[in-house]
Amino acid sequence: MVSTHPVGLQNSGYQYLPKDDQKTLSPNQELLPLTAQVNSHDCLEIGGCDVTSLVKEFGSPLYILDEVTLRTACRQYRDAFKRYYPGESLVLYASKAWSCLAVCAIAGSEGLGIDVVSGGELYTALEAGISADKIYFHGNNKSVAELQMAMKSGCTLVVDNWLELETLADLATATAPVRIMLRLTPGIECHTHEYIRTGHLDSKFGFDPNALDQVFEFVSKHPSLNCIGLHAHIGSQIFEQQPHKDLAGVLVDCLSRAEGYNLSIQELNVGGGLGIRYTEGDDPPSIDTWVKGVCESLVAACEAEQLPLPRLLSEPGRSLVGSACITAYTLGSRKEIPGIRTYLAVDGGMSDNPRPITYQSVYRCVVANHMSAPLTEKVTVAGKHCESGDILIKDVMLPQTESGDIFVVMGTGAYNYSMASNYNRLPRPAAVLVNQGDSFLILQRETYQDLLRQDRLPEKLQTGDSKK
Ligand SMILES: *Cc1c(COP(=O)(O)O)cnc(C)c1O
Repeated sequence: MVSTHPVGLQNSGYQYLPKDDQKTLSPNQELLPLTAQVNSHDCLEIGGCDVTSLVKEFGSPLYILDEVTLRTACRQYRDAFKRYYPGESLVLYASKAWSCLAVCAIAGSEGLGIDVVSGGELYTALEAGISADKIYFHGNNKSVAELQMAMKSGCTLVVDNWLELETLADLATATAPVRIMLRLTPGIECHTHEYIRTGHLDSKFGFDPNALDQVFEFVSKHPSLNCIGLHAHIGSQIFEQQPHKDLAGVLVDCLSRAEGYNLSIQELNVGGGLGIRYTEGDDPPSIDTWVKGVCESLVAACEAEQLPLPRLLSEPGRSLVGSACITAYTLGSRKEIPGIRTYLAVDGGMSDNPRPITYQSVYRCVVANHMSAPLTEKVTVAGKHCESGDILIKDVMLPQTESGDIFVVMGTGAYNYSMASNYNRLPRPAAVLVNQGDSFLILQRETYQDLLRQDRLPEKLQTGDSKK
């Protein structure tokens, strides 16, 4: 089912194909989705669908989401927690990575809960059929309307700060207490290749752990607040294991401090943050390895403090959906600046993938209709927006290409669609779910009418003057 590398073709798009059996691969360690292969037309296939045919059918640019890869990542998380944690556990999909009905519903069908950070994401998760007892609502500045919506739905609120705590204490009643977790700033900050621990961390999220006693005191005096757990999240695109192991210790420490307050805290949420491979140089631990490290540290910390094992929650986003999706573009204009650079332009850019211009993120790519062609030309691939910084990939080796070729960027499942904009009034692309040769449109391409849906013309401008 999965292609091997033909001899001599390592310097082509083939080099990015998954090498082993799908079942044993950790999706976050692969550049292409697990089902990627090359067909007899030398074209890339995902989920049994020819990428060039998908573009013909659904248009360009196009997000292509591989169901097998997404489900595999969900299962690997779920199964690893079962294997390595003797207590109860629940994996939540951090839906900010890609919040839409289909992705939430797939995660839900694999037994995952959903974490949301806004009323809009909560609405999406509920409409996707996720039951409220598996939804956790984060955010450092939830509006009163969002708090009321969350309480009405019955989801759990992850309380971030004093204002929210006090507001909830007033909104809820002792007869119908609101279920909350407390978010802490754990004092562990992660960079990609190092981390530091500080007593006070400069972060807008969460309670200072040093002020926890006051928080516990407040909660214990308000029967309208039912505090069931503690939460912390230390960052994103993390490759090291140690920060997450340390976090388990910090959380258990806080748990033991809650002992004196007669609260019924039974859940710890260790957040998300496991990284994915965007380039050959990236080497994240597998999902299984990451979960093992978290579980073993938590069990050890609980034993040291002689605490019963809490219910363990984690909330990965990027490592669930990131590697499951590619974006297909159509190549257009070419600008050669002799001795300096050759620019190739695609029909999208910073509006469908704002990560390169926002975070200087680096991506890898293939030309979907020339997968075995040797890489002979160094180019810079630009978007079509009116921004010089709208560059998708800088200085990359490609085969000889021409306008109309299908250019694919890998690893675009996380923080692409969810951060997409209509800059320059580009309609947002469609997204298609693929599996075993079937394709299903999960997000329609926006139309020009969609772009004008919120526009209103003041009456005095409607007289026709504007049409002269
Ligand atoms: C962003 C975020 C996550 C998910 O992070 P990933 O790096 O995508 O796994 C989880 N929890 C919280 C609170 C977050 O803000």
